[in-house]
Amino acid sequence: MYKKIMVIAIIAVAICLFIFKPNKKTEEVNAEQTLTNRIIVIDPGHGGLDNGANVGKVREDQLNLKISLALKEELESRGATVYLTRDDDNDLTHRDYNYSKQDDMYLRVRKIDSYNADLFISIHLNASTVSSTWGSQVFYYGKSDTAKELATDIHDAMKPITGTRKKIESANFYVLRCTKTKGVLVECGFLTNGNEKGQLASSKYHKKLAVAISDGIETNLSKVPPVTPEPTEPVEPLS
Ligand SMILES: [Zn+2]
Repeated sequence: MYKKIMVIAIIAVAICLFIFKPNKKTEEVNAEQTLTNRIIVIDPGHGGLDNGANVGKVREDQLNLKISLALKEELESRGATVYLTRDDDNDLTHRDYNYSKQDDMYLRVRKIDSYNADLFISIHLNASTVSSTWGSQVFYYGKSDTAKELATDIHDAMKPITGTRKKIESANFYVLRCTKTKGVLVECGFLTNGNEKGQLASSKYHKKLAVAISDGIETNLSKVPPVTPEPTEPVEPLS
């Protein structure tokens, strides 16, 4: 009899646990989907014949793409729709001869604006003639208050990861000046600094940067209603 009561009690406890167990999966999904209905464009700097900053065998354009892909994955896991201006080693002209920075940048700007996105992030790595120079830095176009706010939010989220002592700065970069979409350019660190170069080449660090930048984007977009989606126009490479 005692045994029977014990068995019934155990079954009853098990049923209670089953019924009252919080649905962890649903909670996790809801917690992650904070960027649903948001469109974000990531622009991995350089590509093709333009390698950006080269230090030894480490190439900026390749690392920019790796960081951008990690950022895309992180943003998509939070529900965002993400587009890349390039997802391979080509620049936007897709030409392996006669590189034209002007053509590449023109196409980049058109492509970024074609998605009618909430915002865009251009990913770069920095270089200096002084090897002790280090630190991530976020740039915005000086005439845009909304871009300045985005730069602040991303800077604040990156600071605990990169430890940077640099401040956000306004810049007249073509990609920031000529786009209609709100955006910033993130220099994730200096390839010419031995310590940062090691970090910037590591996929674990790419993931950390991706999470930090996504946190900054989330903070920023929580203050802004989503843009109304419009039909997109594909941008073809120049022939
Ligand atoms: Zn660059």
